[in-house]
Amino acid sequence: MLTTPLAVPCLHRVHSGHPMGSHRVHHSIGMSAEITDICRKLENLNREANALEFPDRSVLVTFDDGWVDSVQFVDLFKSLTKLQPVLFLTINQLKGDTSLLPLPRLYAWCESHSLDISSIPTLGITREELKSLPENSQHAVLDSLNIPRVTNSSEILQSEEIAILIDAGWVIGSHAHDHHDLRFDDLNELEKGLREALDETTNAGGTPWLAWPEGRCSVELCEIASKVGFTRQFSLNVEAGIIEFPSLIHREIWS
Ligand SMILES: [Zn+2]
Repeated sequence: MLTTPLAVPCLHRVHSGHPMGSHRVHHSIGMSAEITDICRKLENLNREANALEFPDRSVLVTFDDGWVDSVQFVDLFKSLTKLQPVLFLTINQLKGDTSLLPLPRLYAWCESHSLDISSIPTLGITREELKSLPENSQHAVLDSLNIPRVTNSSEILQSEEIAILIDAGWVIGSHAHDHHDLRFDDLNELEKGLREALDETTNAGGTPWLAWPEGRCSVELCEIASKVGFTRQFSLNVEAGIIEFPSLIHREIWS
């Protein structure tokens, strides 16, 4: 495991005080945080890095799933010079797809019906089951429940916004070829998918870093990603547990 003396945060969505609309459901599962709170934590992290005399842009701050919310931090990162923002995007997002991933699609539907996530099992599905299926299969399950697809979501980064982040010095990494728990996939298929994810990421000017979808991986998966050419990998402590792998960085969700 790569030891990082400071926490490596993982951020998804941010809201400004009162989680409204689709933020309400995300907030309830710890995936939408209050923006001033996050800004304060980032300033503290930068201060700690200063005190430790870390080089500029050496402390990573990561953003998963391509939420447009990340644009709100562009100016802040310009002044917090010890921090390096990293945006992890799926292959589809790198190609300009701005549709909601299956679980956010489900949360958007919950929101439109004023339901919270405890209602999801009454639909005959669970979040955990969905996470274990490939994206297409997750979408098919939601289709069968007449939950509408959300294409062209204004809540997902558009290509022009990704370009703004790149111009501002953000690093682009891969969030894999398919957003689901990849631990139970056929290993040959996985290798093929990761290879494609790496190619798309580097072709888009990104860096060969991989954030495992759902933050979940295993030593065997890390070995495959490393063999494919990813030089750093990122998990989530709460999801993967502590897995020891030389180029794996454990992150914590800030919520
Ligand atoms: Zn994700």
